[in-house]
Amino acid sequence: MFLPESGPLDDEPWWTYSLCGSLSDPDLFFEPSRAKEAKALCARCPVQRQCASANATAEANTGKAYWFGIVAGESANRRRVHAKQRR
Ligand code: SF4
Repeated sequence: MFLPESGPLDDEPWWTYSLCGSLSDPDLFFEPSRAKEAKALCARCPVQRQCASANATAEANTGKAYWFGIVAGESANRRRVHAKQRR
């Protein structure tokens, strides 16, 4: 299992650098009408790759009912497709 531990700039945990970490409006990632806005934020996030990897690991260990919202710039449906391709 690969779970990245550090960010791109130093030895701090990768999520320290997430753009959503300091967001005052976390609902952004869970409102379908704002998906485009959420994806744009992820596209600018310096730890998008680490986020995608960690989330893929987490989702692989949970039921599909827990897959929702935008993560690392991808919808839950898109992540399901990628998960199937990895099997
Ligand atoms: S890629 Fe998106 S969901 Fe992942 S840490 Fe960055 S802003 Fe948050």
